[in-house]
Amino acid sequence: MSGPNTQYDPVEVSTLDPSAIDAAVQEALAAIAAATSLEELKAARLAHQGDKSPLALANREIGALPPTAKAEAGKRVGQARGQVAQAVAQRQGELEAERDARLLVEETVDVTAPVARRRSGSRHPLELTSERLADVFVAMGWEVAEGPEVESEWFNFDALNLGPDHPARQMQDTFFVDRPDSGLVLRTQTSPVQVRTLLERELPVYVVCPGKVFRTDELDATHTPVFHQLEGLAVDEGLTMAHLRGTLEHFVQAMFGEDIETRLRPAYFPFTEPSAELDFRCFVCGGKDPECRTCGGTGWIELGGCGMVNRAVLVACGVDPDRYSGFAFGMGIERTLMFRHGVADMHDIVEGDVRFNHQFGMEI
Ligand SMILES: [Zn+2]
Repeated sequence: MSGPNTQYDPVEVSTLDPSAIDAAVQEALAAIAAATSLEELKAARLAHQGDKSPLALANREIGALPPTAKAEAGKRVGQARGQVAQAVAQRQGELEAERDARLLVEETVDVTAPVARRRSGSRHPLELTSERLADVFVAMGWEVAEGPEVESEWFNFDALNLGPDHPARQMQDTFFVDRPDSGLVLRTQTSPVQVRTLLERELPVYVVCPGKVFRTDELDATHTPVFHQLEGLAVDEGLTMAHLRGTLEHFVQAMFGEDIETRLRPAYFPFTEPSAELDFRCFVCGGKDPECRTCGGTGWIELGGCGMVNRAVLVACGVDPDRYSGFAFGMGIERTLMFRHGVADMHDIVEGDVRFNHQFGMEI
């Protein structure tokens, strides 16, 4: 090992040469000033302040100097290192401020900017109306029954007391499947579901049957060849017209408002006897506006047909008509949707424009 360099000659210790230190400082300051990002500054700092930087090497050389030279060299190197450290700190501050300002701009959220929104879908109002109607009955303990849309003539007509000569069986009303003698039709009413229910279930039965039915109508503002009905059937011991009236009155009041009055008008249907049409007081004008668009100024709205199940139907379904009686009713779901929401044209309901559906909201 060599001893202390007592014969100090600055020329021999080149790293401690004042001009070399100045050059190292200038080089460091230039690199620091040239750094345009915190990463570049870090690289410059390692190169000019790190263990292997010229100034660090110079600092280490000081220890080898004779005491007389140590102080001067130490001061020079210390000042040089201080100058570099100060420049690094200052540039660090500037670059951090720039980064923060840039992030503020880049990460700004413009809450007023329009966004590309995907519109949500919407259930069809017919479906919603159908479920809502059925819900009133379900809340009374009734069940929902379903059946096939392609139905045998026997279920669709014969079992319902519509004999072979009944006008409803004619070609102008009914869609026959394949050929007229196939015995299959697209059901013209949901009543065959009631027949199936009576044949399949134990008595008593309380069921509602919502569903699609088919008739050979042209599509216009008030008709469509495919439409929806909700029918109800109750068969139990001791049922009377009073039960029918009370049930439908409760239904009307649940759907359209408390205290709404109902009335029965005599009517004829082959599968009920006696039969009636049930009307209820207009829920818009209460019967007081001769110009009312909902009830046409009559003050009454027709709900649909109803009646006591014809004994012939009970017999066809294997039910003893001397022990059991029943009532049935039916209503059009399109019609209910139209007068309940002021829909004026059937086309809006069947054409499937989502803008129409959206008006009824996302009710589930
Ligand atoms: Zn009215």
